[in-house]
Amino acid sequence: MTLALQRDLEIVGADLTTTLPSGEVVGFAHLDYAASAPSIRAASDAVTAILPYAGSVHRGTGLRAQTSTLEYERARDLVAEFVGARPGDEVIFTRNTTDALNLLARTLPEGTTTIVFETEHHANLLPWPNQLRLPVPATPDDAVEAVRAALRTVKGSVLVAVTAASNVTGEIWPVRRIADAAHAAGARVVVDAAQLAPHAPISLADLGADYLAFSGHKLYAPFGTGVLAGRADWLDAAPPYLAGGGASATVGETPGDVTWTTGPARHEAGTPNLIGAVALAAACAALLRTDRTALHHREQELLNWLRSGLLPLPGLLEVNTFGPDHPRVGITSLAFATHDPAAVANTLSTNHGIGVRAGQFCAHPLTRRLTGTTHTAACGFSESLLRISFGLGTPDDHIHRLLTALSTLTHP
Ligand code: PLP
Repeated sequence: MTLALQRDLEIVGADLTTTLPSGEVVGFAHLDYAASAPSIRAASDAVTAILPYAGSVHRGTGLRAQTSTLEYERARDLVAEFVGARPGDEVIFTRNTTDALNLLARTLPEGTTTIVFETEHHANLLPWPNQLRLPVPATPDDAVEAVRAALRTVKGSVLVAVTAASNVTGEIWPVRRIADAAHAAGARVVVDAAQLAPHAPISLADLGADYLAFSGHKLYAPFGTGVLAGRADWLDAAPPYLAGGGASATVGETPGDVTWTTGPARHEAGTPNLIGAVALAAACAALLRTDRTALHHREQELLNWLRSGLLPLPGLLEVNTFGPDHPRVGITSLAFATHDPAAVANTLSTNHGIGVRAGQFCAHPLTRRLTGTTHTAACGFSESLLRISFGLGTPDDHIHRLLTALSTLTHP
């Protein structure tokens, strides 16, 4: 049964329609939340409310500048609450998760080793210098043990970079156990929460994270804003991410004669994205006000229905890292024996009004493993998969239409 949502969680554009080749007009079924989720009313209302007052944050004394500064910092406080920021943590607004992780990578103390699994999204794989890259683990226990073993081989400053939920399989990673292992060895942990944040509470303390990163556009807010939250010491000690106004405290006459501010402003040079921050914070606040257990149950109900409907379809295999029964968020990816996933995605869009994603989802090493090693027999189409993902506001009808369409496609 479709869950009735409180007004501020309603999906903006839920009534979008598209015309099929037959001329029939159908509601557009967006099943690509993992790429970008639609915005919710809370985010949209926040944009409408702030726009008339929008001015330059931290720059100016007029009504616009003052209101904007107040609302921008209020947005930071709301996000701090959303991630359960602890004393000594900072919340920095970035452009997205990629930006947040790149920022953190620039603040690592000299010589830091990063331990990372090859299962990661490229955003949490490519930014890290001096990397110890671990192969895909077979079980959560193996993942924890692999980190433990890797930690025994490195000295000095170490960061473990791990995702909370896979953007390919939707599987939830044993982040807390990995963090405990890392901390026992004196290492720090950054959690890529891009895919977990829209589906479950994220708390720095509960995850055991020193840092976490996520994107507004996957969390029911518009594009252009992300977050890096976590311990201030490395952030305050590193050179600013961008050099410029806002990050500089004093600038002298000669090149290089500059002192940098500390705190979030150090890494937020330039005029901040007020609208994006306010919208993201409004989405966070709406989720904080919500019974997220009910949302979780609804999502799991849809996921179970979807997966059991996919199971009997011929020539199609759901991929996983930790086994089919491991908990996951509302994401699943399929390998096809005889169909090209890109062609399937196009047909779903053109003939059925359903939006999904085909490809490698910026996780090439993982999709290569899943299609090559794990499922050689099943996958006739290189390293590509078809991904289905959903979340808040997804009606039963979208899952039903997808299953019907895939059934037609796989039974020509
Ligand atoms: N991490 C994960 C797990 C993701 O799924 C994504 C995007 O798909 C990213 C990082 C990068 O997010 P963004 O493109 O918003 O920077």
